[in-house]
Amino acid sequence: MGIDRIAVIGGGTMGNGIAHVAAQHGKTVRLIDLSDDVLERAVATITKNLDRQVKKEVIDSAAREATLARIETMNDVERGAQGVDLVVEAVPEIAELKYSIFQTLDRVAAPETILASNTSSISITEMAARTSRPDKVIGMHFMNPVPVMKLVEVIRGLATSDETTRATFALSEELGKTPVEVNDFPGFVSNRVLMPMINEAVFALMEGVAKPEAIDTVMKLGMNHPMGPLALADLIGLDTCLNILEVLHRELGDDRYRPCPLLRKYVAAGWLGRKSGRGFYVYE
Ligand code: NAD
Repeated sequence: MGIDRIAVIGGGTMGNGIAHVAAQHGKTVRLIDLSDDVLERAVATITKNLDRQVKKEVIDSAAREATLARIETMNDVERGAQGVDLVVEAVPEIAELKYSIFQTLDRVAAPETILASNTSSISITEMAARTSRPDKVIGMHFMNPVPVMKLVEVIRGLATSDETTRATFALSEELGKTPVEVNDFPGFVSNRVLMPMINEAVFALMEGVAKPEAIDTVMKLGMNHPMGPLALADLIGLDTCLNILEVLHRELGDDRYRPCPLLRKYVAAGWLGRKSGRGFYVYE
């Protein structure tokens, strides 16, 4: 089954990136958010990122125009999910919110529509169990920033079919990405491996092992990481990191995933990283 029409639910950081990449690769896209302000900002961000691609000669100005023309914005999830081949949900990382959206999508989307989630850590199997089509529910975990990052972690729930997985792989490749198949366990592969590293860096900071710049420099120059773990945590959002660590700790039941108290303290203070102007570093 070819996927040509896509609805993206949530126009925030990830949703606008997913809409951008899908439209750039010829898909008809509906970008859906409850807030008109978010949708306006999403289109402004997509336009700015397309302008950058034109400047760098990644695309020409005709492709820029065509990409924007393929994106329609709307507020109505129920209407937006009708008549599409695939829905990608990218609303905040709150399990009950995602469950309720999957129930709505299952009710209004055509029976053959694939329902994908961009979740970082919530169980695909549990979302699928809320629908009457668990074979058509799958994780499509794009990385931030979506137009730049090549990976899509494709997460199979317990009941996800081979056909749904194949279609999701084919779509990811059409979007210029490299899909990797992963089974549904807390944190999948990406956050199961990344978050303990970030957490350990925060423990090292809390225990006075080194300053943030020193911790990040060791990991960049010593381990060849493009960004240090603390700068990366600021980019992801410290609240998001804490949420994911709590899922790992709770679901895997192992204290090695317990969130560092200093991370909790920063989140409690509203120091969320780049998005709030301050995390482990200060941003203008
Ligand atoms: P975000 O807060 O930037 O955007 C979420 C958007 O969803 C908001 O604009 C909000 O208005 C909208 N929304 C909320 N409820 C809605 C509803 N009922 N219907 C329609 N829209 C609704 O969040 P984000 O960072 O884009 O994250 C979205 C998802 O992607 C999360 O599951 C997150 O874990 C995952 N993710 C995030 C990153 C990252 O680096 N930020 C990376 C990979 C995956």
